[in-house]
Amino acid sequence: FVHQLADESVGMEELLQSPLHLAPQSALPLPPELYGPARRNSRGLDLTLPTTRALLDDAFARTTVAAIPLADPAQVGAAVDRALAAGPAWERKPAADRAAILRRCADSMENDLPRLCAVLVKEGFKCWGDALAEVREAVDFLRYYANEAERILQPQVLPGPTGESNELRLTGRGTWACISPWNFPLAIFTGQVAAALVTGNTVIAKPAEQTPAIAAEAVHLLHAAGVPADALQLLHGPGETVGAALVAHPRIAGVVFTGSTQVAKIIQRTLADKDGPIVPLIAETGGINAMLVDSTALPEQVVDAVVQSAFRSAGQRCSALRLLLVHEAIAEPLIHMLQGAALELVTGDPARWSTDVGPVIDGEAFATLQRHLELLQSRASPLLPPTEPDPRTRLIPPQAFEVGGVEQVRNEIFGPVLQVARWSGDPQAVIAAINRVGYGLTLGIQTRIDSRAEALAREARIGNVYINRNMIGAVVGVQPFGGEGLSGTGPKAGGPNYLPRFCAEQTVTINT
Ligand code: GLU
Repeated sequence: FVHQLADESVGMEELLQSPLHLAPQSALPLPPELYGPARRNSRGLDLTLPTTRALLDDAFARTTVAAIPLADPAQVGAAVDRALAAGPAWERKPAADRAAILRRCADSMENDLPRLCAVLVKEGFKCWGDALAEVREAVDFLRYYANEAERILQPQVLPGPTGESNELRLTGRGTWACISPWNFPLAIFTGQVAAALVTGNTVIAKPAEQTPAIAAEAVHLLHAAGVPADALQLLHGPGETVGAALVAHPRIAGVVFTGSTQVAKIIQRTLADKDGPIVPLIAETGGINAMLVDSTALPEQVVDAVVQSAFRSAGQRCSALRLLLVHEAIAEPLIHMLQGAALELVTGDPARWSTDVGPVIDGEAFATLQRHLELLQSRASPLLPPTEPDPRTRLIPPQAFEVGGVEQVRNEIFGPVLQVARWSGDPQAVIAAINRVGYGLTLGIQTRIDSRAEALAREARIGNVYINRNMIGAVVGVQPFGGEGLSGTGPKAGGPNYLPRFCAEQTVTINT
């Protein structure tokens, strides 16, 4: 996927060999009690050292990336108190000042690009091409939300009767909990936090426990750019304890979450059950994303789009293609071409420029994927050679299975595993079957009949529809990203309707 970047690789490879010079945690302007002594989680692993975990089950990370102590759930209360105290001063700042801080942070991320990429490769096991794209996306979020805040936070003067003035004003809501995933540990983390901050909220961020170092880097850069320490605080730890305590806190004004549908529902229940105000949840969750290919589609284009969408990032994207639906008239040659293309992909060490598919994130993900693969091996026809599972490397080369149809696919398999089914008859009926599954994140359509593409897109209850191209890598401000149904609450990240959802709205009517 990254061959065009190979010429630039020399400096990057050297960087990986040397210490990364991470921002020392002690230098972070964060309350020291949030970085208490190292603790153990229920599985007995010392999560303060991500690579202690990595050394146990990982063949690629042999050095410590960062030492990051965990927060105690009991510290959530103090953190929220500090955020609330910092709120009014931050909220009163002109929107342009907060936007300027985001832009400064974007500049420093760009200046620090190679080092941030190296953290993503080392801690998040990202391939270089994915790491570069991720830093780019984080920078885009910062600049886009800075611009958007300046646009939407202007008071809107509304027409009214003579003798009266009416104004609609958007303000922050209070302190938000930002809970982000390991698969985009810089981009989604930065996007959530930037959106909440720039609209005048304060933030307590709880990044995924697998990727704490890159989150600490982002917070360091935001603080250095001018966000007050108490207006943005970072709590590390498992979702089940630290995340749960944060969501359950009575003074949290909103929660933004990216992760599984199941956890989103747990958060929704927690918010509904606590006393006090009705608290909004912005959730972006998973998908069983399909690509519908009709008999007029261009096979080479389809194969390229499928390989990118299903196997890039080892399939660890919410947007990734899970179910390829090919018209029976072209199924044989298309599957044949796809097999050839998938076998060309290099699976291996993410630090190597030639690697296309790196390891899955951790031992738990690897074990879950093995269970899915065993089930598929017993129920479906393999289209690609199976491999000997090696939990030491956590590598899974691209896998594909032929299944009966949409109805047979019920679980999101979060890895490089594609299911393929043939269809015939009415394509609208296929879209109806996809709609019935209930997820609504991404959909690919491959056809040379424009009117058909348009009609199918209109019928689909899907947030992001990609016609005649791959279906991953939504660009901030260009392809606002997010789903509906089981895939999320909306609004779309990187789109014009995102920031208002972080705001309270006030209408002021004056009798003049
Ligand atoms: N925005 C990413 C994309 O378009 C996916 C985000 C996710 O996996 O949560 O590929």
